[in-house]
Amino acid sequence: PGPLRVRDLRVRYGPGEPWALDGLGLDVAPGARVAVVGPSGSGKSTLAAVLFRFRDPDSGTVTLGGTDLSSVSPDVARQAISGVPQDPHLFDSTVRENLRLARPEATDAQLWDVLERVRLAVDVAAMPAGLATDVGVHGARFSGGMRQRLALARALLTDARLLVLDEPTTHLDPDTRDAVLDDLLAAAGDRAVLLVTHDLDRLTEMDAVYVVVDGRVVQHGTHAGLLARD
Ligand code: ADP
Ligand code: ADP
Repeated sequence: PGPLRVRDLRVRYGPGEPWALDGLGLDVAPGARVAVVGPSGSGKSTLAAVLFRFRDPDSGTVTLGGTDLSSVSPDVARQAISGVPQDPHLFDSTVRENLRLARPEATDAQLWDVLERVRLAVDVAAMPAGLATDVGVHGARFSGGMRQRLALARALLTDARLLVLDEPTTHLDPDTRDAVLDDLLAAAGDRAVLLVTHDLDRLTEMDAVYVVVDGRVVQHGTHAGLLARD
């Protein structure tokens, strides 16, 4: 049972192209921490793009709490499944306006609260240089970790019961990677998390791990269970 049930997903980027997802299925239980791992090109980001409703699958289903997400609009779907895409699409404005994209009526008090939960010490009225372009020359300068925290804060303002984190720490300095991931997972609270990663170090703390190769799940289970099977 829910929240997330993915069945037989098939996606390709053009006629005659190989299948980026080739019958992929997985489940995420309510509140569970689930990792999707696999080599580069195995289809992990394509899965995330389907879950974020950036891309429609050629076939297959994504249901959340029993609702087929293809039956609702992308905006409704993004209130149900949110998270941090590889490129979180922050835009050059205030922190407040970036956060209000997820919840236009949010008060500053709610924004302060969510920024505290992701441990981002920044003024909601600040207009950090280069939020969107990463080439800021003046004003507050956002680091990669700060951008990930802001993107997660935005996701936490939705009603999402599932947060998808697509390689949330890949572009970060190895020294801050663990701390940022710790904070992202803690901030997720009791929401389910699907973590797309090629970092194998953190799998022991996940409730389940799916290994994806060539767009298909080749193994799944707990980290300990997968090791025992080898
Ligand atoms: P991963 O995230 O595991 O590295 P991807 O989902 O990015 O894998 O890629 C899966 C397959 O789809 C690869 O063969 C990749 O080349 C292809 N692919 C991904 N994005 C595109 C795209 N925008 N256009 C064409 N092919 C793509
Ligand atoms: P729709 O028209 O279905 O709402 P859009 O393509 O307009 O979808 O995308 C909605 C939001 O998602 C926009 O902010 C857009 O920039 C962002 N977006 C779309 N595709 C991607 C992607 N592959 N990666 C990251 N963000 C994306």
